[in-house]
Amino acid sequence: MEAIGVLLMWPANTYLEQELDRRFTLFRYWTQPRPREFLAQNSDSIRAVVGNVFAGADAELIDALPKLEIVSSFSVGLDKIDLNKCREKGIRVTNTPDVLTDDVADLAIGLMLAVLRRICECDKHVRRGGWKFGDFKLTTRFSGKRVGIIGLGRIGLAIAKRAEAFDCPISYYSRSKNPNTNYKYHSTLVDLASNCDILVVACALTSETTHVVNREVMNALGPKGILINIARGPHVNEAELVSALVEGRLGGAGLDVFEKEPHVPEELFGLENVVLLPHVGSGTVETRMAMADLVLGNLEAHFANKPLLTQVV
Ligand code: NAP
Repeated sequence: MEAIGVLLMWPANTYLEQELDRRFTLFRYWTQPRPREFLAQNSDSIRAVVGNVFAGADAELIDALPKLEIVSSFSVGLDKIDLNKCREKGIRVTNTPDVLTDDVADLAIGLMLAVLRRICECDKHVRRGGWKFGDFKLTTRFSGKRVGIIGLGRIGLAIAKRAEAFDCPISYYSRSKNPNTNYKYHSTLVDLASNCDILVVACALTSETTHVVNREVMNALGPKGILINIARGPHVNEAELVSALVEGRLGGAGLDVFEKEPHVPEELFGLENVVLLPHVGSGTVETRMAMADLVLGNLEAHFANKPLLTQVV
């Protein structure tokens, strides 16, 4: 069979990169010093793109690859792929749902506990020898806090299930009411934020949900409220978040994602009511292997004319 060209957009885990290399003719986009020339030279052989949370397939890339048949993303989020363009051109798109849900939900709960119980600050206190000079100050209870979730999808539901085990009343906001749960539905985000202690962002990033957490929402959450974002940075207006935290209009934040990763606003570094993570929601050995297997399985299925495992488009 003729070698199939696959373009990998960003360094992947060793297993995925090795397997792509073994099964296909692999091109590494980020290593190309002149990407436009590289695309022009190889556009006839590249039939698949593998993207991730940092780089997917935008309109320019899709237009530069006339033989492109499939975009297989090493992520569940599709915000780095021009889905309309893919639909227009009949390019198939797959992602990695479900296999990462538990890890991301676990981390969301970890962030809630870390912010409220100041786990990172406590750890620093011990390491710096501060304990010898006095006990750590009292923190805030997590059990029983009202948890509001933006987007009750796979991850949102998994967070709800975990928070319920901490006796937290759950409510949510999304475009439609989920008929399969008894969680309280709010038809506006400000209403949800006004009626919870912890607001968790767990929805998909689209043009509609960009900056959905704005000044009004943060003010509604209030000086004792906590914002947790494990979805995507651009959901939150980061400049507004910084001023809400600095001015004490918001009680705290647990953030796995940022607007311009890996840039994190330095104003946040000195705030002890904030916990900052480097986008590691799905970052466990087990889950990254399962995600890699889905990427590979989708590519194999496509080129063998079999049904795709996790088709989006
Ligand atoms: P999902 O099952 O597709 O859920 C997405 C949710 O977003 C749905 O409940 C949907 O509800 C809601 N939504 C979509 N548009 C909305 C809007 N305009 N307003 C309010 N809600 C809206 O996806 P998932 O598997 O749970 O993943 C959710 C997101 O988590 C992904 O898109 C990704 O960005 C992020 N994620 C982050 C990490 C990480 O490492 N931090 C890892 C994995 C995923 P309705 O359709 O009813 O509105």
